[in-house]
Amino acid sequence: MKTIAITGAASGIGRATAAQLQSEGHRTIGVDVNKANTSKSLIADLSTHDGRKAAVAGILEHCDGKLDGFVPCAGLSGLPDRPGSLLVSLNYFGTVEMIDGLHDALAASGEASVVALSSNSTTTAPGLPMKLVEALATGDEEAARAVGDKTGSLMAYPATKMALARWLRERAVKEEWIGRGINMNAIAPGKTETAMVAEGMADPAIGPHMDKFPMPIGRNGKPEEIASLICFLLGPTARFFVGSVIFIDGGTDALLRTNDFPAAFPIPS
Ligand code: NAD
Repeated sequence: MKTIAITGAASGIGRATAAQLQSEGHRTIGVDVNKANTSKSLIADLSTHDGRKAAVAGILEHCDGKLDGFVPCAGLSGLPDRPGSLLVSLNYFGTVEMIDGLHDALAASGEASVVALSSNSTTTAPGLPMKLVEALATGDEEAARAVGDKTGSLMAYPATKMALARWLRERAVKEEWIGRGINMNAIAPGKTETAMVAEGMADPAIGPHMDKFPMPIGRNGKPEEIASLICFLLGPTARFFVGSVIFIDGGTDALLRTNDFPAAFPIPS
């Protein structure tokens, strides 16, 4: 039996992941603004530093300082009237500060995994604002929040998810992480039927556009399909995955970015 913490565990992908882990006999610690149906449910607002600090302390208490897996799912999508700064603080800092805070407990496991939620919007949203990605990479939350507000949450969303994937890939290969037995990977889902997508679809300004996004498979993803990939990456047969960003999107990235990956590695000058 492993002990695995999941943020955003009260809904959608986080809830489906917690349910699958529990059915496999693992102990789950859920963190959310709402109560989660996990072995232990912690309430915390991860868009604030104090909320993250309390969440880390709560997880450490309930895992006795040894954590086998961490799945930071808590996130919000962009909406016309939602400030970009909220996505900066929740999607990016609400993930990376939690991973950092849990490092020692993950290392204590000896064979731990982190699976972070990026998004296929990183490669398929036209005009992704790199200025915000760069601001996030500095680690200065207040400065990044200001850029996020200027950007607006609709375009801040893919930027937070790209910055997160890059943050994770940079660290995943380091001695401090893989050298301590912590496999870190990200997944990049496409449109999946959760409360987040329902909220976007209900918005009169963006809802009609969300339906037009090309999905070669001809349907949206199900939270259980995304949870299956997460649970595989948390498991013992996935230890060779390190710093990967795995797209699970019904073919959208392959359709829109066919020849952009794999890309040739230029001869170093
Ligand atoms: P969801 O809305 O069903 O779940 C998100 C959860 O985050 C909710 O339980 C919510 O209460 C929680 N949350 C919101 N604000 C919070 C806060 N301040 N502090 C703590 N918890 C908070 O959405 P989902 O689709 O399951 O999304 C899960 C993750 O997957 C997100 O990071 C999202 O960006 C990512 N993702 C989703 C899709 C999709 O199409 N659904 C696609 C790509 C990536």
